[in-house]
Amino acid sequence: MNSVTKRGSARTASRMAGSEAPADGLRFEGVSKVFATAEGSKPFLAVHDVNLDVAAGRFVCLIGPSGSGKSTLLNMTAGLFNPTRGTVYHDGRPVVEVNTRVGYITQQDNLLPWRTLEDNVAIALEIRGYSRAQRKQLVAETIEMVGLAGFEKHYPSQLSGGMRKRATLARTLIYSPDTLLLDEPFGALDAMLKNALQTELLRLWERDRKTVLFVTHDLDEAILLADEIVVFGTNPGRIIHIETVNFERPRSLTDIRRTPEFTEVWERLWALIENNK
Ligand code: ADP
Ligand code: MG
Repeated sequence: MNSVTKRGSARTASRMAGSEAPADGLRFEGVSKVFATAEGSKPFLAVHDVNLDVAAGRFVCLIGPSGSGKSTLLNMTAGLFNPTRGTVYHDGRPVVEVNTRVGYITQQDNLLPWRTLEDNVAIALEIRGYSRAQRKQLVAETIEMVGLAGFEKHYPSQLSGGMRKRATLARTLIYSPDTLLLDEPFGALDAMLKNALQTELLRLWERDRKTVLFVTHDLDEAILLADEIVVFGTNPGRIIHIETVNFERPRSLTDIRRTPEFTEVWERLWALIENNK
């Protein structure tokens, strides 16, 4: 069975009779989210009945048109708000409050402009009460890991777009969350830079094999990075397809792009997304 499995309602019913949420990874069980809207208008169904298992250590991309509920799903995984119906499980336990085990990189990079790179990267350690000496060592290692050594004293405004993305990644990786939620992290970057950062992200991931939920609207990116691609449709936001991607790892992104398999998957998923806008 796939490690990412879309579970139909019939199977959900039988599983609810006894089976437990998996011990490792994420499970979305009948997850829906309704937002209240302006007084007088109807409540808005943003996410409808998402059933999905993500085994620990998998790299899963979420793709779909704008408004299909992808960010809402990440917000619920991070415990920023609860589903209206259903449950998100992390390692078998329901997520009911802020989920400190995930590292969440939202669409905006949120670096603090008045702090240097090293002080931005240190934030999570400060919150967790690490001593100055402990922070110094870890900050240096993490900045090195994302390729920003030499820029420790720079402010965000003195960093390029790509460097800011690396800084955001460092700020999250430093506290070793077991799961990463990345919401269109490379969305606004040019193609060359995007390619470089995708390669580096894969290199880091191959090393630690964290669980990754990676939202993108770039189909190339999803096929290049993912073990599984979860395709969302709109009205309401919901899963319409799950694709397993079988390119071997470690991957060479330039080689994969040239294969007939890449084109075949790309065309099929593109048609699916276009027809479900
Ligand atoms: P995506 O990330 O796939 O573009 P979102 O999860 O951001 O989609 O949003 C899904 C839908 O839910 C959108 O129509 C959006 O306007 C709506 N939505 C998201 N957050 C809220 C909120 N806090 N209040 C009301 N509506 C919201
Ligand atoms: Mg979004």
